[in-house]
Amino acid sequence: MKVMPEKVSLVIIGGGPAGLAAALEAQRQGLTDILLIERDQQLGGILNQCIHTGFGLHYFGEELSGPEYADRFSTAFTTAGIACLLESHVLEITPDRVLTVISPLGIRKIAAGAVILAMGCRERPRGALGIPGTRCAGVLTAGMAQRLLNLQGMMPGQSIVILGSGDIGLIMARRLTLEGAKVEAVVELMPYSSGLTRNVVQCLQDYEIPLLLSHTVVETHGRERLIGVTLAPVHPQSRKPDLAQTRFIACDTLLLSVGLIPENELSLGAGVVLDPATRGPRVDQRLGTSQPGIFACGNVLHVHDLVDDVSREAEQAARSAVAFLNETDLPAPQADFSTGRLPDQHLAAPAGWPFPEQPSLLPILAGPGIRSVVPQLISRDRIPETLRLAFRPARVYRSASICLRDGQGQLIIKSQRRILTPGEEARLTIPASHWPAVTAGHWQLSIEV
Ligand SMILES: Cc1cc2nc3c(=O)[nH]c(=O)nc-3n(C[C@H](O)[C@H](O)[C@H](O)COP(=O)(O)OP(=O)(O)OC[C@H]3O[C@@H](n4cnc5c(N)ncnc54)[C@H](O)[C@@H]3O)c2cc1C
Repeated sequence: MKVMPEKVSLVIIGGGPAGLAAALEAQRQGLTDILLIERDQQLGGILNQCIHTGFGLHYFGEELSGPEYADRFSTAFTTAGIACLLESHVLEITPDRVLTVISPLGIRKIAAGAVILAMGCRERPRGALGIPGTRCAGVLTAGMAQRLLNLQGMMPGQSIVILGSGDIGLIMARRLTLEGAKVEAVVELMPYSSGLTRNVVQCLQDYEIPLLLSHTVVETHGRERLIGVTLAPVHPQSRKPDLAQTRFIACDTLLLSVGLIPENELSLGAGVVLDPATRGPRVDQRLGTSQPGIFACGNVLHVHDLVDDVSREAEQAARSAVAFLNETDLPAPQADFSTGRLPDQHLAAPAGWPFPEQPSLLPILAGPGIRSVVPQLISRDRIPETLRLAFRPARVYRSASICLRDGQGQLIIKSQRRILTPGEEARLTIPASHWPAVTAGHWQLSIEV
């Protein structure tokens, strides 16, 4: 794109799998005025560095690598002729959907009729953990190691300890082993892995890499380069390390795989209300945020295990954004570029759009046993045919029931599960036939044993 437009019906921020699927679906819904903005030099997002297979089993019925999965969408996107700005970073979104973008074309403002947030997530860094020790070389996140190895052909080290058993850490344990490194151990604070079971089996057990549950790193050692770490077991309840039982493991590299956090700075700047559990926006079943016309999908909304779910969710966000544009009589907003503000009539919310305090919204609460649930709200005036709740259990459960109850405690739907673990996002589908008359109050999702 040679000229940056001043107003666009739908702007999608992020060219990863969420942004690409959203753009294609918006076009399928008949919208032509779409702009996707991506800060990287290429489309595909984080999948470009995920060269292992395991992507696309649900969406395409095939096992693809990350770049292959991304390529299917980016090829379709390019063929569809949807407008795109690469190497362009969205710096700010105002509540009334005026974006500030920095790109090779300069700094510009774009007024959007609707916005889809698809900025993905980032890794928790070492600073967030506060491990004592020197700040020597050799301590990096698992995602950074993945990028160095898979995109730049650089080995981050030869003897490795991985802190945290998230999926990226598990995948990197296998990848580094295949490249000749010795992975001494994967160390996990919790008494269970925080990654998918299939990754524990295929990436650790198949390569005889020890998984030390209920352990943590209490100190890093080394002046210029890491020479080892001290581990300690943790108390099962308090999770405090037992410093009487420490042990030293020699290693030149410590990888951190201790969680992903939605990229939520833009959302916050736009005044979007965030959920403290997912750390992404609170949304209703149409994936609309607390700001009218701003939708969210993919890892910026909640961290997903499978990219297939990201693509499906993004398609839902696109359908909702197009419906919003069709339903509102608002003309495409005209920004006053001197102030970055829109004329006042554009600030009014169309009826029925989600604000947290609106009585038309039914909150879905995360009850006992549930760490987080998405969506967090249902618009009472638009009960969907089928509602799919995505949730994470707070701990491991065997032979448990997921129960959705209304505000009076009446059971709406119950589903039996053999195993539930925080490492695997679970889903509950509620068909229209199970919807009771939606009354005041709230619904609550819980795990009952
Ligand atoms: C380091 C890392 C490694 C991962 N490895 C695996 C794996 O091996 N296997 C697996 O199944 N899943 C993996 N995941 C999960 C994976 O991210 C998701 O399955 C999927 O890629 C999420 O898609 P997304 O489009 O929501 O986010 P992303 O793929 O992260 O795409 C978001 C895009 O938004 C762009 N962006 C962000 N902010 C802005 C802005 N302000 N302006 C413009 N553009 C912006 C980014 O550059 C990026 O291209 C990994 C995640 C991370 C963070």
